[in-house]
Amino acid sequence: MTVSPGATIGIIGGGQLGRMLSMAAAQLGYKCHIFDPHERPCAADVAAAHTRADFTDVEALRRFGDGVEVATYEFENLPAGALDILADKLRPGTRSLAVAQDRADEKSFIEGCGVPVAPWRRIDSLDDLRAAVEALGCPIVLKTRRFGYDGKGQAWIRSEADITAAWDAIKGKPAVAEAAVDFAAEFSVIVARWADGRHSFWDSPENAHRDGILHRSTVPCGEACASQVATARASALRIAEALDHVGVLTVEFFASGTGPIVNEIAPRVHNSGHWTIEGAVTSQFEQHIRAICDLPPGSTETLGAGASMENLIGSDVDRWPELVGDQRAHVHLYGKGEARPGRKMGHVTWLRLR
Ligand code: AMP
Repeated sequence: MTVSPGATIGIIGGGQLGRMLSMAAAQLGYKCHIFDPHERPCAADVAAAHTRADFTDVEALRRFGDGVEVATYEFENLPAGALDILADKLRPGTRSLAVAQDRADEKSFIEGCGVPVAPWRRIDSLDDLRAAVEALGCPIVLKTRRFGYDGKGQAWIRSEADITAAWDAIKGKPAVAEAAVDFAAEFSVIVARWADGRHSFWDSPENAHRDGILHRSTVPCGEACASQVATARASALRIAEALDHVGVLTVEFFASGTGPIVNEIAPRVHNSGHWTIEGAVTSQFEQHIRAICDLPPGSTETLGAGASMENLIGSDVDRWPELVGDQRAHVHLYGKGEARPGRKMGHVTWLRLR
C-alpha cells in the first residue's frame, strides 16, 4: 500500500540514522515522529514530533502506532517482542529485527541461506568457550549475542591464556566465538528491497575500521573487494528475500581468499552508506523511505568517480572549523551534546569529481 507524501512516518530510535532518515523523508513531504527514551535525541531536532518513552512501554508504542501510517526502526537493539504491537505498520518487519539482534540466530539464519560466515560456536559458559578454542583454534573473537555494536561486547583470544580474561571482559553473557577471518579488506553490500521484490544496490564501499568502529568508507572499492561484489550481492539478496525484508538492508563482508564471508547484517540504513547522500543519485535514506512508503525506486547510480566518507568519532568533531573551511567537504554534524570517546558525532564526505 502506498503511503503518500504528507503522511507521518514513525521512526523507532532517535540517533543519527533516524535524523538522516527524517531529513530525507521531509524532502519528500513526509513528517516524522521519533520514538526514543532520551530527552533530546538528535533525530528529534529535525522531526515533527517526539515520543519520549521506553522501548518496552507497550501503551506508548500503541499510541505512537495510531498516529503514524508506517513505522520503521533505525537500530536493532530493541527489546524482543516490544514492536509486535506495531507489526501491521512496521517495515521492515519484526523478522528482520529478531534475526539481526542475536548474533547466534543471525549466523544460523545466514548459513541457512547457504551463505558462508566464519566458523563459530554458541557460548553459554566458560566450558563452552574452552571447547570452542579447542575446536576453532586461535585467534578467535568472542562477541556477546545481544546489544553489541561498534566493537562493544567483544574480546579477542589470541592464546589459551586469554580465555578467562575474555570471558570476564564480556561479563559471562551469552556469546558467540568466531574464528578470525584472514581477509584482504572489508566491504558492505547495501540493498534496498520493495515488498514486491524489486530491489536496488549501490556501489559497494570498502570499509576501514579503527578500534572496531567504522573509520572510512571508500567508493569504488579496491580490486580485492570488487572481484567479490557480484557473489556478495547475490548472497545479500538471498538474505533479504528470506527475511521478506522491506527497506534497506546492509550486509558486511570480509573479502577472504575463499570468497566473501559475512561478518554481520544490519536490517537498516548503515554508516557505510552515508556517502550516498551526496555520492549517489538517490541516498540510502531516501531509498529506504521510498521502499517503506512503496514509492518507485530512485536510481542508485554513483555520481562522478566515487566518494570517500570519514566518521567524526568523539573529539574528532573538534576539527569542525577546519572541515567547514574545506570547500569540497560535505560536513554532517549530528547535533549531539557531549563528544564521548567512541561516540559518532558526525561524518564528512568528499566526492571524487571526474
Ligand atoms: P563487528 O562489531 O562484529 O562488526 O566487528 C567489528 C570489526 O572487528 C570488524 O569490522 C572487523 O574489522 C573485526 N572483526 C570482527 N569479527 C572478526 C573476525 N571473525 N575475524 C577478523 N576480524 C573480525
